[in-house]
Amino acid sequence: MALYVQKFGGTSVGSVERIKAVAEKVKGFRDQGHQIVVVLSAMSGETNRLIGLANEINDEPTPREMDMLVSTGEQVTISLLAMALHKLGVPATSYTGSQVGILTDSSHTKARIQRIETDEMREDLDDNKVVVVAGFQGVDEEGNITTLGRGGSDTTGVALAAALKADECQIYTDVDGVYTTDPRVCSKAQRLDTITVEEMLELASLGSKVLQIRAVEFAGKYNVPLRVLSSFQDGPGTLIVADSDQDEDSMEEPLISGIAFTANEAKLTLLNTPDVPGVASRILGPIADANIEVDMIVQNVAPAGDYTDFTFTVAKGDYKQTMKILQEQVLPDLGEGEVKGDDNIAKVSLVGVGMRSHAGVASKMFRVLADENVNIRMVSTSEIKISVVIDEKHMELAVKALHKAFGLDKSDIESE
Ligand code: ADP
Ligand code: ASP
Ligand code: MG
Repeated sequence: MALYVQKFGGTSVGSVERIKAVAEKVKGFRDQGHQIVVVLSAMSGETNRLIGLANEINDEPTPREMDMLVSTGEQVTISLLAMALHKLGVPATSYTGSQVGILTDSSHTKARIQRIETDEMREDLDDNKVVVVAGFQGVDEEGNITTLGRGGSDTTGVALAAALKADECQIYTDVDGVYTTDPRVCSKAQRLDTITVEEMLELASLGSKVLQIRAVEFAGKYNVPLRVLSSFQDGPGTLIVADSDQDEDSMEEPLISGIAFTANEAKLTLLNTPDVPGVASRILGPIADANIEVDMIVQNVAPAGDYTDFTFTVAKGDYKQTMKILQEQVLPDLGEGEVKGDDNIAKVSLVGVGMRSHAGVASKMFRVLADENVNIRMVSTSEIKISVVIDEKHMELAVKALHKAFGLDKSDIESE
């Protein structure tokens, strides 16, 4: 007998039929004698619908009221699933995040889980009940409802699995595992049997939304066995493994494990700013004060040496505000220069622990993009990833070309 935390995403509970199918699936596991905690997302599209309603009423709703609103989506699915389980003769109780004791800090819309009470869940499990928990939400010390950021039900699932010391956290979604890249964009992408926590963290942070990054962080920190599977078809899915679990002797590590991409960033450049100590902090200080996260940063020194261009990227949602800060605060402070911006960019990233021991990944990447006539606007690297910023219109082409060039295409591997 095992204890499984099973999280089902929006598409998997997107209709009454789908919810009934989830109930059947959960019943199947319980019939085999396993204890099951289910974590659910809202029906697909529901969270976006709620955000849309808010924006029709107020374009700057307070984060507290936003959380009050968007947390309702999950309350619908958990109650419906409990009813569907009852219909199948399975005892089950649904709980909101606050009822089950998921305590978070008070950073509304991006709260972090601090503690989880497990006593009540344990009692239910011992009574042979299925516990159904609303994903994405928690409660702060003052009793305010909080949410964990978009895609946060993954994190609820892994955090519950950690707190309950579950045998496995299973993330059921609309693809049958983690792929070499988003299979909806590249039809030649293929499922990975395993991927390391380190690689999954990079992929998640660089735009692959199959798992929320905090869920992967939790899994790494608390050693939670984490698996991504399809809720529509049976199969082994993809197991996220600790970095040390990779068997380095038996298999040559592939150079690249996956390609992530996102069109969710925008780029801003300050041209002809004075090249004197402290400029970078005078540019980025006011941005940080506004709580805007900066991703890539590039500074070019002009040939004369007195002036420099300074470019950085932020989330697309922060573009307008960042532009305003640069124009109204930073430029007057620097006394000279010019601001330019572009929100039609994409970031494409190669990820793989194998690149640690191989030179030449970057040069190959640049050559492939050059052959496709794709202009590279920015580059950043770390030990196991290389990211480039390109024009958004070239994103799909770049992903497909790189996927092929680095030997990730399905047919290439099958014919080996
Ligand atoms: P859920 O609603 O179940 O949480 P998401 O839409 O959040 O599902 O995540 C699943 C989606 O992630 C897939 O439909 C796929 O388009 C996308 N995705 C992006 N990158 C990858 C990848 N490398 N492997 C698998 N899916 C990916
Ligand atoms: N419903 C939330 C969202 O759409 C949380 C989740 O699905 O994980 O972001
Ligand atoms: Mg998701």
